[in-house]
Amino acid sequence: QAKAKQGCTWYLYNERVNRSAGSLADLEDELRRALRRDDLELHYQPRLCIETGRIVGMEALVRWPHAERGLLAPDEFIPMAEESGLIVPLGYWVIARALRDLQSLRESGVGELHMAVNLSFRQFQDSQLLATLERLIAERGVDPHWLEFELTETAVMRRSDQVRGTMNALAALGVRFSLDDFGTGFSSFVHLSRLPISLLKIDKSFVDQMAARPQNGRLVRAMIGLAHDLGLEVVAEGVEGAAQLGQLRRFGADQVQGYLISKPLPLAELRPLLDRGHRLEMRG
Ligand code: C2E
Ligand code: MG
Ligand code: MG
Ligand code: MG
Repeated sequence: QAKAKQGCTWYLYNERVNRSAGSLADLEDELRRALRRDDLELHYQPRLCIETGRIVGMEALVRWPHAERGLLAPDEFIPMAEESGLIVPLGYWVIARALRDLQSLRESGVGELHMAVNLSFRQFQDSQLLATLERLIAERGVDPHWLEFELTETAVMRRSDQVRGTMNALAALGVRFSLDDFGTGFSSFVHLSRLPISLLKIDKSFVDQMAARPQNGRLVRAMIGLAHDLGLEVVAEGVEGAAQLGQLRRFGADQVQGYLISKPLPLAELRPLLDRGHRLEMRG
């Protein structure tokens, strides 16, 4: 298995695509066309505040309903979009749609909700990123305070002045940043404290292993403690069981996201959950 530098997903992906229908170039063309025709979708996964049991936000996750291959998950086309640069227009499409849906939720009176959108490092290489984001936010008339961008450690660790500059400018508008998949990369808390990051998302792999051995649990508890000392809120990702939720609550995590609460859903299916003012009873 070829495992070139930062190319691992790419090769795996490439092979899979070659085995199935057309070539990768075809898929790229198809994605370009899908974008033009507005043929992508966003699903939203709620985030629950542990203390109140209420939904306080959601994460937008892109899906591609493909004519022959069915609903494609991001892992099946985001790596290609990043390689080809299509992630730039795709990213703007995602943000525009997420802002539109957030606005529509707020207009229908569904409380105060944060909207989190994933940003790839590659999107920062677009010199128009800041200006375009400012325009999209202004066009929608959404209070930037409700918008949050999720960045992975690899993106943040590049520590380029451009990334920091753009992040600071957006943070000044009120936009929040979270560090996604925390623990799977190589970031250090030192770098974290130099960037305008407000939340830490503990990766699912830690949540999964938490109950297996006491030291795994202690590791998660320590991560939460450190994050809090730095003034960061903690979101645990990939929470599937009630026992995990109980443990996270005892460790002091602030929010949970995962199948236990809900899978990512189309907006129409998420609405009833929000309307009910969904409140999860917690034990343990
Ligand atoms: P992520 O940002 O870490 O998103 C969380 C992923 O974990 C989502 O997969 C979600 O469906 C899944 N997940 C959440 N809770 C659970 C759970 O309890 N159990 C299990 N087994 N899985 C859970 P998804 O939607 O396939 O997204 C995968 C990745 O694709 C995301 O990881 C994100 O890095 C990327 N991605 C998704 N949408 C976008 C986008 O619009 N732009 C960019 N740049 N990347 C995106
Ligand atoms: Mg994310
Ligand atoms: Mg994540
Ligand atoms: Mg991830």
